[in-house]
Amino acid sequence: MSDGDLLNLNHAREPEQKALMEQIIADGVCPFCAEHFKKYHPKPIIKETDYWFLTENMSPYPGTKYHFILVYKPAHIRTPSEIVPEGAADLFALLDWAIAEYKIPGGSFFMRFGETRYNGSSVQHLHGQLIMGDVDAPGHQPVRVKLG
Ligand SMILES: [Zn+2]
Repeated sequence: MSDGDLLNLNHAREPEQKALMEQIIADGVCPFCAEHFKKYHPKPIIKETDYWFLTENMSPYPGTKYHFILVYKPAHIRTPSEIVPEGAADLFALLDWAIAEYKIPGGSFFMRFGETRYNGSSVQHLHGQLIMGDVDAPGHQPVRVKLG
């Protein structure tokens, strides 16, 4: 795994996710770059702004009621410092929109960045995750996330 690799198969969690990632690696593209995202991402785009895609994670974490990802659109970037100021403001506006739209009374937002071997991410391209635990489901187990 080098700094330049777009995907990290070590962090794929589900067989269908790993199979798709192997296809993307064979295609030699970044699946989260705007020109490829809709081709590879199997879930519908919920909302699209000038700076972000909001959609469901293709492999939601066990125990989540909602698991959304927010993917940066203008360029292939890897760190928050590369987000343009308007894009940063737009990110939080989009988070507010999703929290209101889905009536999320509590949840978590996190964003992995940089080299994937340090953060548990399967895709290098900067994206955030918004999750809400399905705490009222029978047998609910706490959502566990690999972050480092
Ligand atoms: Zn990209």
